[in-house]
Amino acid sequence: MTLSEIQQQLRRLPSVDELLRHPLLAPLAGTGARPLLVESAREVIGSIRAQIRSGQASPPLEEIATRIQQSFQQRQRPNLRPVINATGVIINTNLGRAPLSQEALQAIAEVAQGYSNLEYELEEGERGQRHTHVRPLLRELTGAEDALVTNNNAAAVLLVLSALAPGREVIISRGQLVEIGGGFRVPDVMRQSGARLVEVGTTNRTRLGDYANAMSAETALLLSVHPSNFLITGFTESAPLSALAELAHSQGLLAVEDLGSGCLIDSAHFGLAHEPMPQESIAAGADVVCFSGDKLLGGPQAGIILGKREIIARIAKHPLMRTIRIDKLTLAGLEATLRHYQRNEAPERIPIWRMIALPQETLRQRAQQWMMQLRSRGVIAELLEGQSTIGGGSLPSETLPSTLLAIHEEASTSYPSLEALAKRLRSGDPPIVARILRDRLLLDPRTVLPEQDQMLLDGLRAALAPESSA
Ligand SMILES: *Cc1c(COP(=O)(O)O)cnc(C)c1O
Repeated sequence: MTLSEIQQQLRRLPSVDELLRHPLLAPLAGTGARPLLVESAREVIGSIRAQIRSGQASPPLEEIATRIQQSFQQRQRPNLRPVINATGVIINTNLGRAPLSQEALQAIAEVAQGYSNLEYELEEGERGQRHTHVRPLLRELTGAEDALVTNNNAAAVLLVLSALAPGREVIISRGQLVEIGGGFRVPDVMRQSGARLVEVGTTNRTRLGDYANAMSAETALLLSVHPSNFLITGFTESAPLSALAELAHSQGLLAVEDLGSGCLIDSAHFGLAHEPMPQESIAAGADVVCFSGDKLLGGPQAGIILGKREIIARIAKHPLMRTIRIDKLTLAGLEATLRHYQRNEAPERIPIWRMIALPQETLRQRAQQWMMQLRSRGVIAELLEGQSTIGGGSLPSETLPSTLLAIHEEASTSYPSLEALAKRLRSGDPPIVARILRDRLLLDPRTVLPEQDQMLLDGLRAALAPESSA
């Protein structure tokens, strides 16, 4: 285009007011969302101006209006929204950890919709405690004398140490000074609580005698932290919790365990290593055990503290308790999740356990269906034997056999690289998160919820299509 043609095109661009009278936009222009629509129109006109200046012709009015409508919708889209997890990592912290059961969702919706007896004793008509909604269940499921719940397990650990060991010594094995991720480092949390860290043993070996030698008049408790996201193998030794508890009690001290995951059913029944269970820690004599609500428990984000009655009472009185209290929606979801364990239906009802329990044959059939559907639309995909993982600081290095859908680098010429394809998938609606292994993009059916199958296939087709606008 010549300079004067460019100037002419720029002059002919419709004004914002004209555009808002277009039939696609007029109904929105009369609502409270008009300012947002005006912003969208300005943005689109701005980008069209730049296009014209770089020598491209102006699009027709119809297309400009459509682009404004799309930009407007984009601005309305929630920032936090569902994604399809095709990574095969079941408890994916970055993707929100445990999806909730239908019953948990329903319980949350019902409590959220109106008022509830959150802190109200219905029988007496007086003030109550929010913990009472899950306390009996937690006692029944774990054998603990008493229980408390917090916002998450990191908060639970901080609270327990702040209440039980301020200004005093806490003895811990060097092999357990772990970092969980997201900046949660056990030594830092201990310091924050005002407790003094006393490290004993070595990275790979800590004996009961190491704890015994370190105990003094300053000691408040012995702390055991489950190494939940790594393995130390080979020449290793650690003191069993029961021995630690016995040693602590012999000197009038406490034994506390941060268990991490909160696995209430035996993971060994699902072809996995045995993840230590809260009921085992209670039986071993721990005075306090804490763990997450949204790891292998399969519920909402929460911290659960179990323990002896008088110790839990001391913890409950600490001022931090109020700052990290569990919210009512979480509490509703947590109670509904715990009820699944009470009815012995966790593997059928709780999504993460359903995923763990999926037989490989079912996974193979699903991956095969995906493959056929894609092939019928000209997308070359193949099946590949692979592994799903548990993730989220639970059962490190344990895998479950799965059948993956693999899209080869050369399956389509419409994207420059697998990274570009993965990015297109992530920018879809809903976004799809996959993994890349060498020259293939891999999608694991284990973590894709059954009701997401069609969305996944639509998303894949859109991302692989030559005309994809993503
Ligand atoms: C995950 C984990 C935590 C933190 O729990 P959140 O619920 O994520 O706050 C603390 N300790 C251990 C051992 C863990 O595995």
